[in-house]
Amino acid sequence: MALLEDWRAYAYDQQTDKNRMQEFWDEYFEKEKGVYAQLLENPDEEVKGTVKELADKYGLDLRTMTGFLDGINDSLKEKNPIDTMDEDTEVSLAFDKEMLYKNMVDAKAEWLYNLPQWEKIYDEETRKQFYLEAKKMNTVVKPRKIGRNEPCPCGSGKKYKQCHGRTKELEAELQEMLAAKEQEGA
Ligand SMILES: [Zn+2]
Repeated sequence: MALLEDWRAYAYDQQTDKNRMQEFWDEYFEKEKGVYAQLLENPDEEVKGTVKELADKYGLDLRTMTGFLDGINDSLKEKNPIDTMDEDTEVSLAFDKEMLYKNMVDAKAEWLYNLPQWEKIYDEETRKQFYLEAKKMNTVVKPRKIGRNEPCPCGSGKKYKQCHGRTKELEAELQEMLAAKEQEGA
């Protein structure tokens, strides 16, 4: 079985009981955090080698190393052939810092985007800006369903059907307003 297939079959196995799964992921996240902490110490140095060599370098088993490569792939300057790689495949961990930071935010991995190593890479203001950009990128704006007799969400105090519910144009205007509000709040 290819490495990635094996990792995914194991990590996302629906048969395993919940507690065991939680334990597995907790352990995995801890190891993952350790590798990121090391990578971020020298963010501009390219780490590369075979999958096996990198696993040894970070003290991981092959499966965990595969999971790590799977997780970081979208943040790399050049993606690794994770679908087909085996332990002798040459891979690189050269990552795009901004993309990595944003992907960590997107994954809601607080323990990763709050790693102290980031503080040496980006000042607080930049991190905050990236954080907001990452959140915004993924705000899918779903139109809110509003009942005809509900008070209009614009705050006018009128019923929806007598306010922004009167025409398609007004409805669209209101939805836009609600979406903008939601983004501000994020
Ligand atoms: Zn209204």
